Amino acid sequence: MKLSELYTGNKPVISFEVYPPKTDEGIDKLMGELKKLKVFDPAFISVTYGAGGTTQGRSLIVIKRIMDELGLIPIPHFTCIGSDKESILSFVKVIEGLGLKNILALRGDPPKDKTYYHPEKNVFHYASELVAFLKANTDLEIAVAGYPEVHPQAKSLDEDLTHLNEKIKAGASLIMTQLFFDNAVYFNYVEKAKKLGINVPVIPGILPLTSAHQIQKSIECGAKIPAKLTTWIDPYQHEPLAFHKAGIEYVVQQVKGLLKAKVPGLHLYTFNQAEAVSQVLRGVSL
Ligand code: FAD
Repeated sequence: MKLSELYTGNKPVISFEVYPPKTDEGIDKLMGELKKLKVFDPAFISVTYGAGGTTQGRSLIVIKRIMDELGLIPIPHFTCIGSDKESILSFVKVIEGLGLKNILALRGDPPKDKTYYHPEKNVFHYASELVAFLKANTDLEIAVAGYPEVHPQAKSLDEDLTHLNEKIKAGASLIMTQLFFDNAVYFNYVEKAKKLGINVPVIPGILPLTSAHQIQKSIECGAKIPAKLTTWIDPYQHEPLAFHKAGIEYVVQQVKGLLKAKVPGLHLYTFNQAEAVSQVLRGVSL
């Protein structure tokens, strides 16, 4: 099913993001976690892609197993950094050969492992160029990334939104956002995007928060920690179980706020674990 056909109803569309584990055992375990999440009737499972192709083989194994063993729709992420047109085409042709209809098109960042990064092969400098290339050469429907708290390399939200608009004009039909903890930031982003004429669904990215370590990682991704969240979790910094409980409760309240505003969907960052995601979705009665 194409992405544009998924977001047409009144019910918020649930989707999950996973990453390809490094080992076969890890992939088996992931399938087990996704089986538990099937109860929430996800519209699709997006599978991340290591920039430069570091995870290409394992991403494909995960994609196939999601289809064959779980009967769910996978959406591959794809990053073009360090790839020439030939290698991009060869990957997307494999994707289309599997019968997949959608892709999340990204620029990516240079990988730390230089074996996988060939800057001399870079043909595209921004995701908008990849979107145009995919539009011209495939039948895939294309989602792109959005950053309610501004991409770290952008000078301002307005500049970032101008470039987001370039991705939509090049042919993308869905925006999936970076995680955030303050709904006001997301609402402002959607409103500003609309003013620019961006009318595609903007799907909020949700992180089920369970540890202080995740807070640190989220900050590295560019997420700001609102004062309300700091106050909420501060008493539990040294009590992992209580932190987990409080973190999930915060995200339940956050998601309730998003649902009240009638967001088109929820894209949950699972980190390959079903439990925290299930706690959030049960907490909002989904
Ligand atoms: P772009 O849209 O190209 O934007 C990158 C920067 O360039 C922005 O600051 C933008 O404002 C600026 N820019 C764009 N066009 C222009 C222009 N014409 N002139 C000047 N500046 C411009 N990474 C992975 O490696 N693998 C994944 O699977 C993955 N999945 C992700 C999923 C989601 C939902 C999100 C939000 C991010 C994901 N990322 C992933 C991270 C992403 O690859 C990085 O954030 C990367 O730095 C930017 O990719 P992009 O596609 O957003 O780039």
